[in-house]
Amino acid sequence: MNKMKKTSLLLSKMASPGASVSPVAVLEELYECSLGATRPNRDAEEVARALVGGVRAPGEIDVCCLALTLIDRTLARSRVSRFYRDVAEILLRDLDVLVARFGSEEQIIRHLAAKSASSCVLYQLRHSGALHPAWPHACEQAFSGSPAGPRPDACLWSLCRVLRGLLRDESKELVRVLVTAFDAGARALAARLLPDDADAFCLLLDLLELLAAASPESARVHAGASLSAVGNAPRYFVRKRAALSLKRAALRPLPGGEASGAGVLAAAALDAVAADWLASVEVAPASFFGGTGRARDGRRDATMLRAVGLLVIKSAERRAASVAANDQSAAETAVYLGSLWRFLRPKGARHDEDHDCGVLPLLFAEQDDDMTEAAKAALAIFLRLREHWRQDDACAAGCNPHCHFLFFLRAVSWDQRLLLDLLISTETCFLEYLVRYLRFLRTDRRGLAASCRRMDAERPAEDALERAAGCLLRLRLLIARLRHKGLFPYKADSLLKLLTEATRRLKAGRDAGGFCPGQ
Ligand SMILES: [Zn+2]
Repeated sequence: MNKMKKTSLLLSKMASPGASVSPVAVLEELYECSLGATRPNRDAEEVARALVGGVRAPGEIDVCCLALTLIDRTLARSRVSRFYRDVAEILLRDLDVLVARFGSEEQIIRHLAAKSASSCVLYQLRHSGALHPAWPHACEQAFSGSPAGPRPDACLWSLCRVLRGLLRDESKELVRVLVTAFDAGARALAARLLPDDADAFCLLLDLLELLAAASPESARVHAGASLSAVGNAPRYFVRKRAALSLKRAALRPLPGGEASGAGVLAAAALDAVAADWLASVEVAPASFFGGTGRARDGRRDATMLRAVGLLVIKSAERRAASVAANDQSAAETAVYLGSLWRFLRPKGARHDEDHDCGVLPLLFAEQDDDMTEAAKAALAIFLRLREHWRQDDACAAGCNPHCHFLFFLRAVSWDQRLLLDLLISTETCFLEYLVRYLRFLRTDRRGLAASCRRMDAERPAEDALERAAGCLLRLRLLIARLRHKGLFPYKADSLLKLLTEATRRLKAGRDAGGFCPGQ
């Protein structure tokens, strides 16, 4: 506020006395209008000229910043006002003036110029599908010729912003136009400057991640650059950011099948795992509350562990779904997962007494959405390969869904209220996972009994079957009660039916002192 007041004063001082149409006076008037819902008492041409003049203003940082900010606001208001739409149309002719500011020595000007230029580009694409040549030209030049520095950073930032805007609109055709225009440039940049410059690298990762969604070739570059950065980038925050970028890409739904970006990523990630990539991944000690203190129990940065874990599990799921299910693919999947558990185990993601099925629920229990994704992926892997795994094989691969379910219940302290929270949360797909698991349980009760016995052997005081049965029974009663009062947020009939069936069978198994073969 104070800053704006100061700017306003400065503008008043700069306005030459007596000149009623000084560009600075127009900017000042426009600024006042932007605070209310009004429009200046001038024609669109004059306003646009003042805005462009302000961006050009040599040496006047405040005037330039104000003009750039007002351009952004003008474009925002063009959606609801004919007058501002007219100003926007005239502004577009001078997009080159904004783009020229990408190379400004002042960081604030570079940032505001990239922001307002992106808004102009989005406006133009949305309204006419056209691109002012100055913007792609500047980006292409920055990607192919300039050394790392402010200009390529501003171009990358701007390109990411425009792509995000189009992806939000779901304008597939326009995204395709941009991807075609910039794919080669971005790949050239990836090959040239990385990862020496941390800021440029992070921006480029964002861009490649966006491009990867639309182009398998970009997905290959994104996967290669990110996997290499996770292992080799000199700074930890870059390594972690690359891991998170890979995780997001791995979780993206893939309409294009194996040939799509996500299929390409899965193949690249598993190739890397086979080539011992995990050994190059360092994970920092966990910090307290985001500070610099170190955890005393030797635990590691769980965000990084989860990102790597989800990348490998989702990739294994994609691969299992895309190749023939046979003994060989089952054995290969077990090798990939085994590498992951070996990576996670010494980093505190497993109690020593538990077998490898315990890694996944323990690692993911703190983060509900990641946990549900991982559990769903592991269940899908098992269902795909179950014909080729015996019970012990699944546990040896750390991929037995019954164990995952039991370990997960243990991780939430067998507390039905936490399960209910997950079921009504909109942020996870826990309902989908639970329904899938309970349906699977109908077909394999003996498997659950075997998992219970295994867990009891590892922790004799626990009685996993008794606890699981009690927890599911309490959950069923809780949901039934809420539904009766009209407080359960969705139709729960099939879930309740599955829970009733599961608890009845668990109770029968418990009363009989465990399951009998064939039950
Ligand atoms: Zn197991």
